[in-house]
Amino acid sequence: MKAKLIITGFGLILITACTPNQVQVEDPKIVEVVADTLVEIVIDTSVQQSLRSHGLVDILSIDSTLIVDLKYATSDNFMGFVLYDTLNAVYLQEDVAVKLAACQAFLKDTLPTHSLLVYDGVRPVDVQQQMWEALDSIPTTERGKFVSNPWYGSVHNYGAAVDITICDENGVPLDMGAGYDDFSDIAFPSKEWKFLNSGELSAEQYGNRKLLRAVMKSQSFRNIPSEWWHFNACSRDQAVFKYKKLMYESGVRE
Ligand SMILES: [Zn+2]
Repeated sequence: MKAKLIITGFGLILITACTPNQVQVEDPKIVEVVADTLVEIVIDTSVQQSLRSHGLVDILSIDSTLIVDLKYATSDNFMGFVLYDTLNAVYLQEDVAVKLAACQAFLKDTLPTHSLLVYDGVRPVDVQQQMWEALDSIPTTERGKFVSNPWYGSVHNYGAAVDITICDENGVPLDMGAGYDDFSDIAFPSKEWKFLNSGELSAEQYGNRKLLRAVMKSQSFRNIPSEWWHFNACSRDQAVFKYKKLMYESGVRE
């Protein structure tokens, strides 16, 4: 197993998912040497430390079998550039992450070789604003189907929503008939029957979406009409109440 270095803002280095010989490194010169032997170095940002101090967790600390592909920390997203320069892991409220782990167990009971593949969790409010503005070709009355209005906030901003799919034993996402962040109608769960009837959505693609919904609904996650990949652990009003109006920007504030 490859080791993962986590570098905190205070210079303390921790190593997780280690090889059998666990080490802790505090001297930066040693870090360089050790880092040469590692595949992945993760910077533990001040925002992530702040998220943890507010009760959110890295989902892999709850269930290390989950697979993460944080699209907004890469340029492989609908914006075409990195949006999360302060996040490199999927963070959720702890109770939401525990429910997600139970969904993973539910899936593995049915399909042991498959896994949930998580694209997004908590989302900084300023990123929400960037997304909103990027879709300015869509009238504001319609735009909320695709990105929540940052004025009101998204359940993502509270760490209680997740963007997710299922992948096979090779980590390949199942075919859902539309990619992640595809804003066309074929991504709409509410319009699946129309596309099934026209043949634009196959029975297999529809079955994959139904499987994902069944897995997520096993822990009462709710899907929305316009995105097959998005699930809320609660309503926005409940999130505001339950999570004490915590909002996350590039710097976390209450
Ligand atoms: Zn979402």
